[in-house]
Amino acid sequence: TLARYAARNPTSARLLDEAATAMPGGNTRSVLFHPPFPLAMSRGEGCRLWDEDGHAYLDALGEFTAALYGHSNAHIRAAIADALSAGLNLSSHTAREAALAREIQRRFPGMALLRFANSGTEANLLALAVAKAHTGRGKVVVFEGAYHGGVLTFGGGPSPMNVPHDFVFARYNDLGSVQALLADHGPDVAAILVEPMLGAGGTIPGDPAFLAGLRALATEHGVQLIFDEVMTSRLSFGGRQALLDIAPDLTTAGKYLGGGLSFGVFGGRAEVMARFDPRRPDALAHAGTFNNNVLTMAAGLAGLTQVLTAEALDALNRRGDALRERLNATLADQAVDMQFTGLGSLMTLHATARPVRSPADLAGTDGRAKDLVFFALLERGIFMARRGMIALSLPFGDAECDTLAAAFEDAIRTHRDVLP
Ligand code: PMP
Repeated sequence: TLARYAARNPTSARLLDEAATAMPGGNTRSVLFHPPFPLAMSRGEGCRLWDEDGHAYLDALGEFTAALYGHSNAHIRAAIADALSAGLNLSSHTAREAALAREIQRRFPGMALLRFANSGTEANLLALAVAKAHTGRGKVVVFEGAYHGGVLTFGGGPSPMNVPHDFVFARYNDLGSVQALLADHGPDVAAILVEPMLGAGGTIPGDPAFLAGLRALATEHGVQLIFDEVMTSRLSFGGRQALLDIAPDLTTAGKYLGGGLSFGVFGGRAEVMARFDPRRPDALAHAGTFNNNVLTMAAGLAGLTQVLTAEALDALNRRGDALRERLNATLADQAVDMQFTGLGSLMTLHATARPVRSPADLAGTDGRAKDLVFFALLERGIFMARRGMIALSLPFGDAECDTLAAAFEDAIRTHRDVLP
């Protein structure tokens, strides 16, 4: 399969080699790299992608959730063109910025007041800064194998996210491990930073009781509970917090909320976020030339007000649930010990049939089996994340789900003998 992949994609290989003369490893987003080389895409439309060697794919990855609207939504294109024609850099606050802020505020119970940034990464760093300023404490509880807990470290090296922070590590879906950390470090802990469902860590949902327990522990210890909803914000209009009726102190999001352009947002309880009011003597600074860049504001606003209706989001989540069940039924029928976990339009393939409640449950599972499925699906015209993640977009309809499910069944049947 790998030899066929290399033979099929000479242009992608050459482009990465050329890029590597200017960028270490030939790219500028670590998550995209995988051996022997990742595909270089040249074009996208709706939920379809074309690579530099001319192959067409169904895009089941959707830019790791940021491409919720697909690649060429007419409303978003029109909004960007409109903003562009009014001038790019206005050196001022704008009406669009306020309108987008109010749309997000209206949806997320945990964001009474909010501010914008250029990425989810920035939003998280700012939320941590708020939590530290508000509590006067320094430590942050994060989760092993979560986005903030080192899932993106390759070969065991540190992630830059880790460097400036005094992180202490708990285990996901294990409230006792958080309790123990707080018993040891409580008076020094500023925040618990948690994804309501692990994203990069394998779309592993947090148990409602675990997340509610974090809320209670945070209150008890005077710790700020931060929900990172960068990936989960699409699970309902108000993210997973609205589904579970849990109010974190701070929330971060981004991805599709910027309409497919670079974006981050962080927000929280009014008295906490009020620290950013520049009229206050103790104001926290939060500058950033592009925090309100007009293209993102326009695209984000158009997406939320013209495209993402409640019905559209509901349908997407139902389509995702149905697809996940169907893919899991294929695995069960073929007696393959693999499964997809996830919620709604988000899912990840794991090489185990045992329950997966935390990344620790994936230790020792067969990474080669996942690779095999990934490359077999590429050959069949399905593009997903190498780590096994699927994030459906709005244009990814029932017909596309049928195509994906058929390709998956064929791939599993073909390689059944070497899968767990
Ligand atoms: N938090 C989570 C849970 C994420 O999955 C990601 C990125 N995939 C981020 C934060 C960072 O967002 P960005 O890529 O926009 O910096």
